[in-house]
Amino acid sequence: MIGTVYKSTGSWYYVKSEDHQFYNCRIKGKFRMKGIKSTNPIAVGDVVDFDLDETVDEVNGIITNIHDRKNYIVRKSVNLSKQTHIIASNIDIGFLIVTINNPITTTSFIDRFLVTAKAYGIEAILIFNKIDTFDEATLDEQLYLQHTYEQIGYKCLRVSATDNKGVSELMDLMKGKVSMFSGHSGVGKSTLVNAIEPTLNLKTKEISNTHSQGQHTTTFAEMFDLSHDIRIIDTPGIRGFGMVDMEKQEVSDYFPEFFVLKEDCKFNNCLHKEEPHCAVKKALDEDKIAWSRYQSYLKILEGDEENYRNDIYGE
Ligand code: GDP
Ligand code: ZN
Repeated sequence: MIGTVYKSTGSWYYVKSEDHQFYNCRIKGKFRMKGIKSTNPIAVGDVVDFDLDETVDEVNGIITNIHDRKNYIVRKSVNLSKQTHIIASNIDIGFLIVTINNPITTTSFIDRFLVTAKAYGIEAILIFNKIDTFDEATLDEQLYLQHTYEQIGYKCLRVSATDNKGVSELMDLMKGKVSMFSGHSGVGKSTLVNAIEPTLNLKTKEISNTHSQGQHTTTFAEMFDLSHDIRIIDTPGIRGFGMVDMEKQEVSDYFPEFFVLKEDCKFNNCLHKEEPHCAVKKALDEDKIAWSRYQSYLKILEGDEENYRNDIYGE
């Protein structure tokens, strides 16, 4: 049978079959996905083949194969072993919930998210929440940001989770897809999920503030079925996609408005910093590239991982 992994505890996998039945599955023997070294062989979102097993009471399935992943997101531990944990796979859309104030979402944070989503091969959409609280200045700022991101090809949506504005448009985007919500603590992720599905009580909210600094909360991602064929992967305590390892040369490939100009740079290994005849710098001087985007690019080149890890994992 074929099914999708909805939950994993490390040794057990909760798998939903194509005919909408749930099975408790385990893995038979040693089982490793080719090419990826991770602490977990199977992650939430994986499509698997499994056989029914009625020989053991609580076990009713044995996973025999994982189908190729469309994408997957990982978390690397900061300790020396640099172990990789696959958080989730086969994500169709990564929504970043952005608030202008309360809390402030910086362009640097937004751009990190967009770069990582692109590197992972996940469509990213920006949701500007709390529009009901906007005064004129906040509104201007939001519209400017929206314009900036729409111009370079990102879908944006304005919503108010509390006033139920824009929620049905959001649901239209989510229909038939597997989505993930990211964003700082307090931007309204839980409120938004509740606006979509009032009966569902996700853990999107911080699960624990009590864990001691430096030690991370064990996170178990979980997939949920909402109405209208909407599926969501909840990753308690994780507020974004961790940074992907990438070469400096590669970074501008994930800024779509830089990428299209690359060919016009004099040097094909141009980092768009001090090189002469750089098409990106030229576009920046001509205001065709947003200054904030270029600043984010430089920050990523410099590798400002620690702050970002703190934003994402609270480490
Ligand atoms: P999370 O940490 O991202 O899950 O954020 P929550 O969903 O817990 O929301 C944090 C706070 O923002 C709560 O007090 C919500 O009521 C409030 N909030 C969420 N969405 C909106 C909104 O659209 N408008 C207003 N005014 N408040 C909101
Ligand atoms: Zn250049």
